[in-house]
Amino acid sequence: MGAECNLIRHFGKVQTVRANSAQYPCKKESFVSLVVPATTILETQDTHVHTFRSSCGLPECTPKAVLERFQQLHFQVVCITDHRHLDTDPALFQETCADLLEIETPLDVYVGCEAEVLSPELVSLPDSEADMYDVILLAASHYHVFNRYVPRVSTPRQMAEWVLALHRRAASKPWADIIPHPFSFTETLGPWGDAAILESIRDDELVELADMAKSNSIAIEFRLGHALSPAYRELLLRFTKICVRRGVLLSSGSDAHSLDAVGITRTFLVPMRTLGIQNKHFVDIRTVVRNR
Ligand SMILES: [Zn+2]
Ligand SMILES: [Zn+2]
Repeated sequence: MGAECNLIRHFGKVQTVRANSAQYPCKKESFVSLVVPATTILETQDTHVHTFRSSCGLPECTPKAVLERFQQLHFQVVCITDHRHLDTDPALFQETCADLLEIETPLDVYVGCEAEVLSPELVSLPDSEADMYDVILLAASHYHVFNRYVPRVSTPRQMAEWVLALHRRAASKPWADIIPHPFSFTETLGPWGDAAILESIRDDELVELADMAKSNSIAIEFRLGHALSPAYRELLLRFTKICVRRGVLLSSGSDAHSLDAVGITRTFLVPMRTLGIQNKHFVDIRTVVRNR
């Protein structure tokens, strides 16, 4: 039997059998005994991984190689989330499912996608196709990829309002499960640098965004993978605090595009520790899929 793949169930092509949970236990008890329990879900669940089927994914990232790497790292849950751009052929995701059926693995593997909000009016994944996927990441900060949608504005505050509008659009989609890397790449938006844009975003605007995400059961991915500027770190810290306070779940994703990056989910660990974040603050993607 190959890897489980709920996407296949949604496509209705092949009936697969989920891995036996007794054979591959979640080891929840062992969480309790760890010195730093807040790290544990970050060490066992990666909800954001690309393969070579993303144009930006390295050729080495075959599903087999990716899953072998996760096994070496003792992960338990993996979401393969290749890009779903406007022009992506959905058959790509079926190809991944077909690959997975040939792979023996003890991991819980889900096939999702990373769709994107390109403008407040334009989302790359049609509503009618959302139920194809086990898990959907909906990015609101891919403007570095599709910069023709970036508006010409004259102040960093105006740009911040557009950035917020994209994020609110992502948080308004009931089929979205996770908003990955919020507010990343703002340094690519105009001549001001990211600090001028990010520092103009007010807490009440972050609260509004968090509440929208919460009302649609959307988790937020926190990672420092794309930018390490003090302004970005500060914004993420503010937003993490607000999400935790408003009951929005956090997500643990590496956004790996190479085998080296697979499973690197802990880049925001130190700030998370200072906030007292524990496993209960993270989305358990198995529960999300089960409740679909
Ligand atoms: Zn992304
Ligand atoms: Zn990604």
